[in-house]
Amino acid sequence: MKLEPAAWWSVRAAHNLKPATYRCPLCGYRLHAMTPHVLIAPEGDTSRRRHAHAECVQAARHQGRLPSYDEWRKTQPRRGIRLHWPFPKRP
Ligand SMILES: [Zn+2]
Repeated sequence: MKLEPAAWWSVRAAHNLKPATYRCPLCGYRLHAMTPHVLIAPEGDTSRRRHAHAECVQAARHQGRLPSYDEWRKTQPRRGIRLHWPFPKRP
């Protein structure tokens, strides 16, 4: 399974009481909404959030596939807010 490209991800515990099933974007297997799991959102965009197994997210975090905002910021050479992502390449 491939995640959409994102500079960083927000991760939070899901509290969902709907009897729905989702497909984990990390392993591709189904997950039931009423079991403990987490929500991941690319760059904090909750409209694109995905339900994922907590253990899959933990493994992906260890592999560096789901950097948090703070981790991403540390990789950025300059302070301040980036208005465009990605930056256009300079000639
Ligand atoms: Zn999974």
